[in-house]
Amino acid sequence: MRISKVFLYDEPSVPEIEIDNLAKFIIEKTGFQVEVRKSFFDYFNADREIAYKLAYVRIFNPYIPFEKHEPTSEEVSFEEESFVNRSILNNIILYDGFELQNILSNIIPDSDLASDMFHLVFTTRRTCTYDCDDYRYHGRTVICSNPSIISTTGIIEAPAKPREYLLAYYENITRGLNLDSVKNQFRGRFLEFHDKNLGGVVRGYALQAIFYYLTSKPFCESKDCMLYNAHWQEELLHSQIEISSLCENHQKILYEFRQKSE
Ligand SMILES: [Zn+2]
Repeated sequence: MRISKVFLYDEPSVPEIEIDNLAKFIIEKTGFQVEVRKSFFDYFNADREIAYKLAYVRIFNPYIPFEKHEPTSEEVSFEEESFVNRSILNNIILYDGFELQNILSNIIPDSDLASDMFHLVFTTRRTCTYDCDDYRYHGRTVICSNPSIISTTGIIEAPAKPREYLLAYYENITRGLNLDSVKNQFRGRFLEFHDKNLGGVVRGYALQAIFYYLTSKPFCESKDCMLYNAHWQEELLHSQIEISSLCENHQKILYEFRQKSE
């Protein structure tokens, strides 16, 4: 695959994404053209029919593979309301990531769907995919395809917090103690909602989605590369914030694609 243009869809309720900075970063790194658009459903004037489809792909039982859910009128109205009032999305509802990707893909007009046009959609919705290895859904930060989806809720919740933090957290819960002191003690070792580091971290996820589209290999083995598939928050902060660059090998691969697109 090749890319000549990237379309970024903002998630305005998470300004920490700093979408314009992300656009500049992608242009500098890849040489591709980048167009920033407002939120996906806003840009494409989503209506009640789309709201219905979204409510259709909610997951209620994480232990069974996807089955379509016939939504209630309240559920559809909730999705419809979320198009104008984004703050109502409370990050609790789970959506099947591939089904959601399908819905987005069907909304994008053919004129914007040429294979060299790559779409990257930010959302606060919790995306998850069913894993046949352990027969359950898992939260996913990125759904790689075209369009690709990055869930800001997934960034905060999918990579695990430090073990010591989790132990201290549950110990304080059992003893009925205040949780703020634990949070303060471990602050900076994991991302929180509206974290200032989010803008740095989304760069790596955006590159993973782009690499998946270009090469079908989104990840790197090296923790010192932005393509490292972090399972822990501390690894995520290390590769995206401390290192914040690609390894030599991936830099070279990107350079070759850049030569081709120019
Ligand atoms: Zn690498």
